[in-house]
Amino acid sequence: MTDWQAIAEQISAASGRAFAPGRAQRIGGGCINQAVVLGEGDQRVFVKLNGADLLAMFEAEAAGLAEMAATQSIRVPEPICTGLVGDQAFIAMEHIDLGGARGDAAAAGRQLAAMHRATRARFGWARDNTIGSTPQPNGEHDDWVSFWDQRRLGFQLDLAARNGYGGRLQQRGERLRQGLSTLLDHAPSPSLLHGDLWGGNLGYAAGGQPVIFDPACYYGDREADLAMTELFGGFGGHFRAAYEEAWPLSPGYAVRKQLYNLYHILNHLNLFGGGYLRQAEAMIDRLLSELG
Ligand code: ADP
Repeated sequence: MTDWQAIAEQISAASGRAFAPGRAQRIGGGCINQAVVLGEGDQRVFVKLNGADLLAMFEAEAAGLAEMAATQSIRVPEPICTGLVGDQAFIAMEHIDLGGARGDAAAAGRQLAAMHRATRARFGWARDNTIGSTPQPNGEHDDWVSFWDQRRLGFQLDLAARNGYGGRLQQRGERLRQGLSTLLDHAPSPSLLHGDLWGGNLGYAAGGQPVIFDPACYYGDREADLAMTELFGGFGGHFRAAYEEAWPLSPGYAVRKQLYNLYHILNHLNLFGGGYLRQAEAMIDRLLSELG
């Protein structure tokens, strides 16, 4: 039994206002964690729980939410605190009613472009985080190609090798790694990225206001975020047009999109196995054919 009162006390201490947990209401829909709503009315707080060993995961999520909120571009839940209760770790954040029937997809596109305008000098992030339940190492890189090679493509390929996916995937993957500087020659800026922007991590608040949540933030090529919005669907036709109107993409995006989405397909292979091997290999083959 989770001690909701103990969590409420930590929320009170962090927010500086008295907070009563009320009747904890469990909600479904998450992929990784147990999710509950505590409190009543406009005092509600959204809480996710998992094993105590995953506290750092929630700390990174809270830091990512704070980083995105600071850009004042697209709405994200304001993080309140993270902590431990019994043998569980938790994150508490602003509760947002995501029942908005109709969302303003164009606003989501424009506001994501505005978030991507938040840039800094280096690629990566001081903090590591997770993508799904897989570790996502970030680090600090001056160079986007080395970042993508070591922290993204290379990391997932090595994980795949450890999961028993050797042979052709590794051989072709190695050739792809060698061609990265050719494929990624468009000199992107390090933009603040959500990092895990599939349709399940976008919602709409009352009035259609877009909200993004459950991030895996780092600073990188904005096209990596945009690519993922096109991988599993859910963003609507007006989203991309509005994004491009706010900040056009550079030529060659269609090819780089494959490379950026390969990361997520390799992650799915590592998490779920099965048909993702064929899909990953087909994506690598298409990218290698671009290299000639
Ligand atoms: P997980 O980390 O387990 O994937 P999510 O962060 O995706 O969980 O949250 C699970 C579901 O809870 C989401 O699909 C969304 O509908 C809802 N949700 C997420 N964040 C909030 C929030 N701040 N307020 C209200 N509902 C939320």
